[in-house]
Amino acid sequence: MTRNYEVQVLVVGAGPVGLSLSMDLAQRGITVLTAEIRHRGEPPNVKCNHVAARTMEIFRRLGVARALRNTGLPPDYPNDVAYRTTVTGMELSRIPIPARQDRYTATGGPDTWWPTPEPPHRINQIYLEPVLFAHAASTPGLTILNRTRIDSFVQDEGGVSATGTDIDSGEMVHVRARYIVGCDGGRSEVRRAIGATLSGTDVVGRVQSTYFRAPDLLGLLKHKPAWGTFALNPRRSGNVYAIDGRETWLLHNYLTSEETDFESVDRDWAIRQILGVGPEFRYEIISKEDWVGRRLLANRFRDRRAFICGDAAHLWIPMAGYGMNAGIADAMNLSWLLASHLNGWAGEGVLDAYEAERWPITEQVSHFAMNHALALQKQREAVPADIEQPGPEGEALRAACGRALYDLNVQQYCCGGLNFGYFYDRSPIVAYDGEAAPSYTMYDFTPSTVPGCRTPHVWLDDGRSLYDALGPEYTLIRLDPAMDVHAFEEAARARGIPLKVLDVKAPDAASLFGRKLVLSRPDQHVAWRGDALPPDAGALLDMLRGAESQTTR
Ligand SMILES: Cc1cc2nc3c(=O)[nH]c(=O)nc-3n(C[C@H](O)[C@H](O)[C@H](O)COP(=O)(O)OP(=O)(O)OC[C@H]3O[C@@H](n4cnc5c(N)ncnc54)[C@H](O)[C@@H]3O)c2cc1C
Repeated sequence: MTRNYEVQVLVVGAGPVGLSLSMDLAQRGITVLTAEIRHRGEPPNVKCNHVAARTMEIFRRLGVARALRNTGLPPDYPNDVAYRTTVTGMELSRIPIPARQDRYTATGGPDTWWPTPEPPHRINQIYLEPVLFAHAASTPGLTILNRTRIDSFVQDEGGVSATGTDIDSGEMVHVRARYIVGCDGGRSEVRRAIGATLSGTDVVGRVQSTYFRAPDLLGLLKHKPAWGTFALNPRRSGNVYAIDGRETWLLHNYLTSEETDFESVDRDWAIRQILGVGPEFRYEIISKEDWVGRRLLANRFRDRRAFICGDAAHLWIPMAGYGMNAGIADAMNLSWLLASHLNGWAGEGVLDAYEAERWPITEQVSHFAMNHALALQKQREAVPADIEQPGPEGEALRAACGRALYDLNVQQYCCGGLNFGYFYDRSPIVAYDGEAAPSYTMYDFTPSTVPGCRTPHVWLDDGRSLYDALGPEYTLIRLDPAMDVHAFEEAARARGIPLKVLDVKAPDAASLFGRKLVLSRPDQHVAWRGDALPPDAGALLDMLRGAESQTTR
């Protein structure tokens, strides 16, 4: 027996990237089938903990931010990152990050000032994915086939034909789609099928990870709990993340550059050194994994009608917690491009923007993550032998180490630049105007309306977030309500381009936006700006939608 499906887009893999892509496509009116090997809502391995503000902004648009915000650590559990000699030892410094109950209102922290309606969220992937799955499963237009593996596909002029297997019944599944997107993780078969190869740095670091239950650990802490706790001492350095805020923890034991064999390091001994506990301390291993941190990028993200997103396209050591977040950014980039073309208002040329925009950004993030991992390794390996020494000398040493740890790590745990600073500077569908986008680091950024940048966020006079007021597709943001934009609206209407005109009234908007008109794309990046309408609005819109110009034809 063969089961047959026909949809516009086939998504392979329902991890966080595949689910986000599928929801966004479906919300834009596209029929989507998502195939996933795992059972319905089955949690993945314990890994990601940091959901970036930019990702939460996306989840807000998709209608799932509130449910996610209410899930994870207990509402009052500190989301701080603490640096100590051991998890139960002396504290060196602490990066303050608000608990989720205070996340929207807290002030004075290194990430509390960010111009966003949705600050970051700390939640493990084992809690995140079931919430995303439930939301996706209730999205009209989206069919999720669990326990279904896509085995192969072929492309022709009009679409893609994929075959797969229902793992439980053995039935064959056949899907006909206009496009296929591989969100099938690090071992992606779709990547292989499109002939893409990974290259970069094979080994950035080796990590022994252990997920364990230890109900007594919280009671042994000498300081306020933290979401992430780093232990630095001359015996063993590593870190622990609170998973349920009560009794489950994920511990990473970072091997030194000389330790190339996982088996050469006694896991139990290392865990006890990092925690700072003796042989009497009891813990139960739930799962364990030995893994190699890498920096790898696929040399292409597309072959005609097949695309790859997320870990299928890039893998890097999870410094700054940005693997999934970058993958979701890929998905949000590709999703509106595919939808605009499938909905008939953008040309096929619009799809060229995906690789042109996302490849350079993911390459940059991969370097940020690797360089940070190498700096951290240096810091771990330089930990002073007498860091635990009592008395004023030890105190001074710990204070100095604490400052250095804070300064380096606030960059990854409050990575504003990765969230808001990146810009698309070589896109075929952005109208550049000669001004360079502000440079950014992992930590720093400058909001800007230079085309290609994220549309800056402001709170409107009526209390709404700008992002809640934007239209679902293009929005012409007007800072001067007296400007006549009918010609622009007419040119959009003539091309079937959904366009909303939004008058923005906010105290700081005029100086922040710097132009009277700013055109925001469906993914909240700036496509064009000006102080007057463009001389040929139609030609501009044709360029932005990747279509041959109707004006010049
Ligand atoms: C220790 C650790 C900590 C991390 N911390 C963070 C963090 O804080 N923040 C962050 O952003 N990232 C973090 N990451 C990275 C993050 O976990 C990954 O980037 C993320 O899971 C990638 O999502 P994905 O959807 O692309 O792939 P995956 O999560 O791997 O999902 C791929 C899915 O595809 C399915 N699949 C595969 N092949 C097929 C097929 N042929 N047919 C059907 N289905 C298929 C799989 O079953 C799987 O469910 C961390 C990673 C590690 C290892």
